[in-house]
Amino acid sequence: FANRCLIKDFERRPSVTHLLDHPFIKRVRGKVFFLQNQLAKVLQDQKRLNPVTKTRHERMHTRRPYHVEDAEKYCLEDDLVNLEVLDEDTIIHQLQKRYADLLIYTYVGDILIALNPFQNLSIYSPQFSRLYHGVKRASNPPHIFASADAAYQCMVTLSKDQCIVISGESGSGKTESAHLIVQHLTFLGKANNQTLREKILQVNSLVEAFGNACTAINDNSSRFGKYLEMMFTPTGVVMGARISEYLLEKSRVIKQAAGEKNFHIFYYIYAGLHHQKKLSDFRLPEEKPPRYIADETGKVMHDITSKESYRRQFEAIQHCFRIIGFTNKEVHSVYRILAGILNIGNIEFAAISSQHQTDKSEVPNAEALQNAASVLCISPEELQEALTSHCVVTRGETIIRANTVDRAADVRDAMSKALYGRLFSWIVNRINTLLQPDKNICSAEDGMNVGILDIFGFENFQRNSFEQLCINIANEQIQYYFNQHVFALEQMEYQNEGIDAIPVEYEDNRPLLDMFLQKPLGLLALLDEESRFPQATDQTLVDKFEDNLRCKYFWRPKGVELCFGIQHYAGKVLYDASGVLEKNRDTLPADVVVVLRTSENKLLQQLFSIPLTKTGNLAQTRARITVASRSLPPHFSAGKAKVDTLEVIRHPEETTNMKRQTVASYFRYSLMDLLSKMVVGQPHFVRCIKPNDDREALQFSRERVLAQLRSTGILETVSIRRQGYSHRILFEEFVKRYYYLAFRAHQTPLASKESCVAILEKCRLDHWVLGKTKVFLKYYHVEQLNLLLREVI
Ligand code: ADP
Ligand code: MG
Repeated sequence: FANRCLIKDFERRPSVTHLLDHPFIKRVRGKVFFLQNQLAKVLQDQKRLNPVTKTRHERMHTRRPYHVEDAEKYCLEDDLVNLEVLDEDTIIHQLQKRYADLLIYTYVGDILIALNPFQNLSIYSPQFSRLYHGVKRASNPPHIFASADAAYQCMVTLSKDQCIVISGESGSGKTESAHLIVQHLTFLGKANNQTLREKILQVNSLVEAFGNACTAINDNSSRFGKYLEMMFTPTGVVMGARISEYLLEKSRVIKQAAGEKNFHIFYYIYAGLHHQKKLSDFRLPEEKPPRYIADETGKVMHDITSKESYRRQFEAIQHCFRIIGFTNKEVHSVYRILAGILNIGNIEFAAISSQHQTDKSEVPNAEALQNAASVLCISPEELQEALTSHCVVTRGETIIRANTVDRAADVRDAMSKALYGRLFSWIVNRINTLLQPDKNICSAEDGMNVGILDIFGFENFQRNSFEQLCINIANEQIQYYFNQHVFALEQMEYQNEGIDAIPVEYEDNRPLLDMFLQKPLGLLALLDEESRFPQATDQTLVDKFEDNLRCKYFWRPKGVELCFGIQHYAGKVLYDASGVLEKNRDTLPADVVVVLRTSENKLLQQLFSIPLTKTGNLAQTRARITVASRSLPPHFSAGKAKVDTLEVIRHPEETTNMKRQTVASYFRYSLMDLLSKMVVGQPHFVRCIKPNDDREALQFSRERVLAQLRSTGILETVSIRRQGYSHRILFEEFVKRYYYLAFRAHQTPLASKESCVAILEKCRLDHWVLGKTKVFLKYYHVEQLNLLLREVI
């Protein structure tokens, strides 16, 4: 009688007559008259046990008049699907009221909406972890821990991989949510091994130090996408973890937009590396901050207080490295490479004019060059040569050409980006090795996992470039996955089972995805094709798009050169095509690779090692390439030869035969790789929403929230979840699970439709339907059935 489900119902419709009709009330029979007193007592108990419900229940009792008509208006609904009136206004109103009460979480059926509180709430303590542990969802207010618990319970009971997809704009709280999920999953998957638990909890902090940065929108903005898989044994004990990273924004290393910063780790090491060591090993003088982390005035972008905080962060990162299991030597090598990047950034170029050539460049600040070479343990002369010259092979002859100042600067920046990108991937791979399951306990194949996707949200800035394009395509793909699960698959199942469900209209973004990903005429394929032509320009690229992408999602704004517009699911975005071709090619001259491979820093060698049989210094390698190119067929033009033999591929491990890979093709590959991991799992969705742009607690902008609800299809989700049947159970399975509720233990009812009806009627459930092979239940039915089952058993 005093069960929570009943209380919820009573809160929703506070009338005794309604309760008399309630299936559970039948069990109480004559005791109905005690109802109000009993409820008051239970609510009081709940208040004591569960602080998060306190304000809520206080409000219920102080403010809420017990008239059914008014009650809807005042009642705060945990699940929007239960609302009587279902329009934008009501939903926004609910969310706003809840937010004012610091109830930041709300369900839409099985989807969790999370409003960013922009303040620390005391609802994530171990006490709360215990509260959200294997209980029915309705027992507690909505919470991110409940989503983690639901995924965990599904994984254990169904022996199936799970996938939690967190989406939302930048700064809406995705990364925080991902942390909280990991925290709760480590609690639920009681690691026998304390060390493993500690390691898993440190992983996010470590990768975020390298992959996050302060932007105009978020002080800790993730500049990469992350899919973290937590691995469990078949009984649900956590046994390891694995991360996949996507689209690290490498360009941030060399340049940041006004008011934004470089990746956190650079500030940490600059503030944290020991003063003496800084000078001798790392060459980071305190008085002259490196250009990559200095602002326009040449100062490092922090004041004294943040310097102290950076130093503390540095200590924390040292700790993370140690806990996860990196050796001191590895960590030292990582710092050296980071310091190397900062020193490379200081190298300048100036034009020198000689009699014959006017576009040669030299390094006027030889000290910077010396420092970079010394920190990276390479020869300064070779470094200079690799930066200021390049070799071209023409008809079997190698010609060394000088680089212009601009080209030299490009090579320098490409070198920094490549160093950072590869270092980041190495750290992620190393973490994966250190956190892989102990084969003696359970092999990875026998185990199950919960994957948590935290990928950057949709971006639409004043100027949008290639990075935004990739990010937005990824979001488009995630939205498609969401639509598939929430709308398309659901409707297909109704059709197959012969059930009349009112079709819900939703914006299918499949045509747009095709426009991006199709071969050979999708946007990415066109971009790759154009990137292969040495003569192509950004202008020819946009023209090519215009000629081939003839659909309503693409347009070219009049009067703006090099611009194209895309109608994304979340809104219109104007992209600036300048530099896109070069960003896509992402070339790193072979000379640079050769020089870096000669480093005495083992880690650095490893980052640039590709399976070449011979190694040597720059001069020897150039000579070898000359010989190799002589054996090329005569029709091989210089440009082509350069592409195939000299330029070094971005991701050597993914390709063979030294074929070049563009950013677009690698991006497409990783997107498919991500999806292939996601589709095998059962999805759970968390939709993060940013209530205001000022990062203020308790400020709720109706317009901003509404825009986010609209663009992500939440409104349609509410209605499909209400009309829909979230649980579909095969007749056989249903009878097996619930026959106790209508039959005696010794009876063996047939696994038929009729037996199902008998059970459903006996339990006095309504609004269920029967398909050809399955019972279709509302999300609340299963909970009711399970509760009844508990009482019977
Ligand atoms: P996103 O990953 O979506 O860009 P973050 O997760 O980094 O956003 O959140 C941005 C900021 O919002 C965080 O740094 C934190 O200050 C605040 N925030 C987000 N979620 C919470 C939460 N549950 N509790 C407290 N603060 C939060
Ligand atoms: Mg983030």
